Amino acid sequence: MSKLLKIAYDPIYAHPLPEGHRFPMLKYELIPGQLLHEGSITAENLFAPISCADEIILWTHDAGYLKRLHGQTLSIKEQRHIGFPQSPALTLRELMITQGTIDCCHFAFENGVALNIAGGTHHAFADRGEGFCMLNDMAIAANYLLNKKLAHKILIVDLDVHQGNGTAKLFENEPRVFTFSMHGEHNYPFHKEKSSLDVPLKDGTDDNTYLKLLGDILPRLIETEKPDLVFYLSGVDVLETDKYGKLKVTIEGCKQRDKIVFTHLFKKGIPCVVAMGGGYSADVKIITEAHCNTFRVAKEIYQL
Ligand SMILES: [Zn+2]
Repeated sequence: MSKLLKIAYDPIYAHPLPEGHRFPMLKYELIPGQLLHEGSITAENLFAPISCADEIILWTHDAGYLKRLHGQTLSIKEQRHIGFPQSPALTLRELMITQGTIDCCHFAFENGVALNIAGGTHHAFADRGEGFCMLNDMAIAANYLLNKKLAHKILIVDLDVHQGNGTAKLFENEPRVFTFSMHGEHNYPFHKEKSSLDVPLKDGTDDNTYLKLLGDILPRLIETEKPDLVFYLSGVDVLETDKYGKLKVTIEGCKQRDKIVFTHLFKKGIPCVVAMGGGYSADVKIITEAHCNTFRVAKEIYQL
């Protein structure tokens, strides 16, 4: 069978949320829309994941927390930390996104790369969510791969502008998962957890510095860690236009970043699973364009 770029889409992106919470969700509709419109992908590339089973979630998250998510019994304080009001549809969405990242692992083993148009919810801890993250999809998928013996060593490359604090904490005592986070030093979370490798960046870090650092570090990590699969969190809140990010990466620099990641992994034949993470530029066209570049570059490098 010929290889295919498989993309998990988020079928219920905006529906769980009341007005006022929908803006950051628009991209989940616009990204597949744009990619289909320009002919970068066809409907054949897209798949809608089902809801992830509790049994799998519980390899990563606490039973009490999962019970509160299912039962809509999160406290007001817990919901405030997450940033969204709880709803059955929102819980379902999180479970579907998580399954999307797991499905992408299987597709990445087959095709080299697979992408989730959502996910990268790296601020979720075992027993709580924060920063718009409820379940940590990459951590759940990593534990799934380890428990099913589909991978022995996993590398998480988190290039969202915010530190992957939940992911770092979840794997602090797990030598089979190497967590690499390159993020804005002065960005949320203000209390950083300890990743296997943290690279905090100064405010105003530009393309040259950013790409040079990544180009030096990533091949070295691939050499030393020899991962069976890499999760790449491709947040576009590194852009200079981002409302929250404090870096000065251009849209072209962001595209070069994706190119560096995919090129090194493709050369070494290491499967790569991508999830979107954040992006909060005021103009949603910029967010969409930067995320679409990740799909375009993946398609180009893997020739899918
Ligand atoms: Zn972010």
